[in-house]
Amino acid sequence: MNIIEFIQHFPNEESCESYLKAYREKTGIYCKTCKSSPKQYWFSGKKFFECSQCRRRTSLKAGTVMESSNQSLHTWFTAFLLMSATKKGFSCLEFQRQLGLKRYQTAFSLMHKIRTVMGKRDDLYFLNGMVEYDEAYVEKATKKALQEHLKRGKGSQKQSIVAVASESTPLENPQTGEKSRHCGFFKMKVLPNVSADSVERFVQKTIDRESVLFTDKNPAYINLEKMVESHIQIKSSKDSTKANLPWVHVAISNLKKNLLGIYHMVSEKHLQNYLNEFVYKLNRRYFGEQLFNRLIIASVYPYVQHYE
Ligand SMILES: [Zn+2]
Repeated sequence: MNIIEFIQHFPNEESCESYLKAYREKTGIYCKTCKSSPKQYWFSGKKFFECSQCRRRTSLKAGTVMESSNQSLHTWFTAFLLMSATKKGFSCLEFQRQLGLKRYQTAFSLMHKIRTVMGKRDDLYFLNGMVEYDEAYVEKATKKALQEHLKRGKGSQKQSIVAVASESTPLENPQTGEKSRHCGFFKMKVLPNVSADSVERFVQKTIDRESVLFTDKNPAYINLEKMVESHIQIKSSKDSTKANLPWVHVAISNLKKNLLGIYHMVSEKHLQNYLNEFVYKLNRRYFGEQLFNRLIIASVYPYVQHYE
C-alpha cells in the first residue's frame, strides 16, 4: 500500500476499526480463558468482542501488539505504514514528527514494539539448504568516559557481536560453467560472545538440521557438524572470506551502512530490535507495497497464540 491508497482506505479511526474488526473476525478471535477461538459476539457501542462460551471480553487491540497502548488505531496504522514504507527506515525523531506525537518516548516505544513483532515473525522460520554463517562486529554506543579505556579493533568492548546467517544456493550457468550464488532468507542475532555455546545456540534456533553449513575456521565452530547435515569449514584470509561467504558479507556491509546512516550509534540493549527491522525488510525485499499488509498480519493475529 502506498501513501495515496492509505489515505483513501484509512482516513480516520472508524476505517481502521472496521478493518481490524473484519480481519480479526476472519482469522478468529482468541479467548485467553478458553485458550481457543470460540464464536464471539461484537458489541458495537463499547467496541469489544464477547466469548460465546465464557463471556470474557476482548477489545479490538487485545492480544495484538497494540494491546495496552493509549494510541489510537489510526496512529498505529500510520506507524505500520511508515515502518513499511521505506527500505532504510526512519530515525525516531523523524517518525515522531511524521506521526505528530508530542513525546519522543512514545515514538520510540511504538517503533520498538513494531520491531519486536518483526523479529517474532522471522523467528517462526528456519533457514535451510545451503547456509553461510559468520559474525559481524557493530559499533555500539557506550558512555564517553568508559570509551577511553576500552580496547580498539575487532572484538573490542566498543563493538557488539552479531551472528549472521544467509541461505545461499550455488548456481551454475550450464552454457558457460560460470558459478554464482543466489541468496534466500537471512537471520541476525546479537551474541554475548563468540563461544562454542553461543554460536551453537544460534545455529540450533535458526538453521534447519538438514542444512549444509559454510563457515570459516574458528575453534568456536567445533561442534557445529553435529547440528547440521554437513559443515564445511573454509580456511580463509580477510579477502577470501568475502568470496566464500558472499551473502553474509553483503548483508553485513549493508547493515553497517544502514545503522550508521540512520541511527549513528546504537546501544547494545536495542541493537536486536534494529536487526529485527533490517532483516524483516531484507527477507521481504520483493514484497513492495504488500509489506504494509504483511506487517498488520504480523502485528495482529498470530501474536497471542505464538508469543504468550
Ligand atoms: Zn472464552
